[in-house]
Amino acid sequence: MRDFFGGLLRPRVEALGLEIGTSNLKLVELSGNPPSLRGLAIRPTPPGAIQEGSIVEPGALANELREMLGELRTRKRYVVTAASNLSVITRTLQVPKMPLKQMDEAVRWEAERYIPFPIDEVVLDYSLLDSHETIPDGEQMDVVVGAARQETVASLVETLKAAGLEPVVIDVKPFAGLRTLGGRLKGTDREPITLFLEIGAESSALVLTRGERLLLNRIINLSGKDFTAAISKAFNLDPVAAEDAKKNYGLATIPTEDEDLLLDFDAERERFNPARMYDAIRPVLVELTTELRRSLEFFRVQVGDLGVDQGFVAGGGSKLRSLVPLLADTLGIPLEIADPWQGIQVDKSKFDLDYLRGLSAEFAVPIGLALRGVSPLD
Ligand code: ATP
Ligand code: MG
Repeated sequence: MRDFFGGLLRPRVEALGLEIGTSNLKLVELSGNPPSLRGLAIRPTPPGAIQEGSIVEPGALANELREMLGELRTRKRYVVTAASNLSVITRTLQVPKMPLKQMDEAVRWEAERYIPFPIDEVVLDYSLLDSHETIPDGEQMDVVVGAARQETVASLVETLKAAGLEPVVIDVKPFAGLRTLGGRLKGTDREPITLFLEIGAESSALVLTRGERLLLNRIINLSGKDFTAAISKAFNLDPVAAEDAKKNYGLATIPTEDEDLLLDFDAERERFNPARMYDAIRPVLVELTTELRRSLEFFRVQVGDLGVDQGFVAGGGSKLRSLVPLLADTLGIPLEIADPWQGIQVDKSKFDLDYLRGLSAEFAVPIGLALRGVSPLD
């Protein structure tokens, strides 16, 4: 799972972490072991450059990326990046135990049933969930497979090359985010069940693990953009104004009297009063919580009635005020915002820690990608 679509080129050099998000481009440079932060950059994705997970304006994206490289002042040109959630399909499937070198063909053959496009038009990669030696002969092996259309991967690679970048690994976003949880996936007496929820601008991803073993990975087509759209409709605002209103006045729980009292009576605040804001957003919240509950239900049926021990939330969409406590409450799972900076050395004289902390949600995936770039790329 650590090196999806990694057959491109794998030199043993450090690589940058890059997330091309629908809303933000994020670039991180880590170096050394233990990894330390060398630089980071975030800037808005040119509007419309990515649509439903596909790159539609490679030139505009490449320009931004080139400028970000300038901002970082790095000579590194190798990158670990990820395909959009909407363009990747992941599935766990079983194949009988066999020698590793026979697996390519067997997995491809088995995966064909799950992939909605012709198998010869996809780039496919896979990873064993257990180490090969530990699986007894004659048993089935669990394999997680990731597939994307060749044209999707090709347009991503072309965009990167146009920016002067050389992709070494194309990962799956939620798996990269998981990497930032590091030691928190492991337990002392037993392996904890961990939930990781990433709410981006275009899509969200729900992952469950037992220890470091993947149990479930679901892409959910509800995210930041849906909150913005609901606000845009309710208050009759253009997308940019709706986005601003969401960040300034958005609210995911029924406003308490206290919050009402906190309001000044200026016209802007009156317009976006918490009760109206909550009414606008509520249908999206209901859909999101229903979808999450359904996925957890599916998991319970498959795996047995096991409780989730801990949960971490990431992605800019999770910054909607009161969203994390609301989700924790409705799902009955302790949730906190993931801290991707833990385990990374940061020179306080070079970086503003409050600034970094403020971007924890957005940087979970890019840091996970950058971490892949500082471990030996084999
Ligand atoms: P994707 O990975 O889905 O393509 P992305 O990586 O570009 O998207 P992020 O950078 O993680 O997305 O987050 C951007 C999203 O977070 C936007 O939808 C934005 O509106 C939302 N967001 C950021 N800050 C806040 C806030 N304070 N309140 C509500 N939403 C916020
Ligand atoms: Mg994202």
